[in-house]
Amino acid sequence: MKKLESKIALVTGGSRGIGEAIVRRLVAEGAKVAFTYARSAGKALALESEINASGGTALAIAADNAVATDVIKAVNHTVETFGGLDILVNNAGIYIGGEFAGHSIEDYDQIMDVNVKAIYIAALESVKHLKAGGRIITIGSNMADNSMGPQGTLYTMSKSALQGLTRGLARDLGPKGIAVTLVQPGPVDTDMNPADSQLADFLRGRMAIPQYGTGEDIAGLVSFLASEESKYITGSWITIDGGLNA
Ligand code: NDP
Repeated sequence: MKKLESKIALVTGGSRGIGEAIVRRLVAEGAKVAFTYARSAGKALALESEINASGGTALAIAADNAVATDVIKAVNHTVETFGGLDILVNNAGIYIGGEFAGHSIEDYDQIMDVNVKAIYIAALESVKHLKAGGRIITIGSNMADNSMGPQGTLYTMSKSALQGLTRGLARDLGPKGIAVTLVQPGPVDTDMNPADSQLADFLRGRMAIPQYGTGEDIAGLVSFLASEESKYITGSWITIDGGLNA
């Protein structure tokens, strides 16, 4: 029997990058996987078709994490389609950088809506359905512990908030047998952080293993945290960053 056989998962932001790798990995482990997308409809629908055509079960849902009702709809659509929810993976996230003096209140709202508020809402809606053995796994960032340099204030702030959310939720949901964890990736080669950029050389220069991670590296950890093997891990985070924070 596969590790996640008969489990039902929802992954936010599964159309590309780390989220896509997580979707593929959870499907490979036997889960039925719903995933959301905002702008990349073509990629999301192609991924859904590919998985369903090859014997897996996937459902692509258009839902913008910046819109509270979309997040709620995504959870309910998953439950209505697959008959429940066991694993929520909060992956969707955005980066807003640049000179701090050039930031605006709108920037604050945008990053906090997608990177923090949507995760709170998804958790709030999901706890109506999660049972003992359930999991809430959120993708944070190594930057929550090491901002590394200028121009990362908003992103670092948003990802640090997830540590508090993880601690608090673990306490709230532990008595129900639901585990809550945070995965903090370092540099991973995606559209958000391409391994061939100028910034990439700076980042590699600070890593113990000076190479970018892949979406599959992160998906492997998520799949472990989603599984029965990880049941004693809750309220904590695992940094997976090639030793950047070491
Ligand atoms: P990408 O920009 O490559 O992909 C982002 C994904 O999130 C896409 O599927 C995108 O969907 C989705 N998304 C973005 N905004 C929204 C939204 N408003 N509503 C719904 N979905 C949305 O990013 P990564 O794959 O690199 O990042 C994934 C997560 O990992 C993020 O939380 C990020 O902060 C975190 N992370 C990434 C690191 C890296 O080095 N790559 C390092 C540390 C953390 P669509 O295209 O359909 O809009």
